[in-house]
Amino acid sequence: MKMAGFYDESMSNGIGWRAVLFVSGCPHNCLGCHNKVAQDFNYGEEFDENKIIERMKENSILKGVTISGGEPLCPENISEVNHFIERVRKELPKFNVWCYTGYTFEELKNREDEITNITLNNIDVLVDGRFIEARKNPEIKFRGSDNQRIIDLKKTLKENKIVELEV
Ligand code: SF4
Repeated sequence: MKMAGFYDESMSNGIGWRAVLFVSGCPHNCLGCHNKVAQDFNYGEEFDENKIIERMKENSILKGVTISGGEPLCPENISEVNHFIERVRKELPKFNVWCYTGYTFEELKNREDEITNITLNNIDVLVDGRFIEARKNPEIKFRGSDNQRIIDLKKTLKENKIVELEV
């Protein structure tokens, strides 16, 4: 997997100070995409998981990590993304994990495949849905367009209904 970028700390990609990993490659091709270069699976540098984990461990300000892109949950990226999240869970147990995806939660559940379900179980907050330019809204927090939802994934999976996070 290639990495389109990495922020050591950010306040604009989820609640609290967070590291942000942008993976490369996205199949959605949304009109008005905010990160068009990251649609290319060959863009950027090779993702070095050890290096990124070490950088996060060195930064005591961080409350969590956000995985964005590109598309972290497409079939090409999801296994490596899940591996990364599992290491975060183990080695940075106080971190919470946010993940942006162009798929809706329902599309991901309808895949009915093991790695998708495992990954969803490992994520705390899922910001879902494609960017829709006609619904672009600069007023809303942490999203580009108002079709996108900030889903509390732990509660959603437990209660078997979409529970959105208040931000
Ligand atoms: S899902 Fe995100 S990265 Fe992919 S095309 Fe849409 S806006 Fe761009």
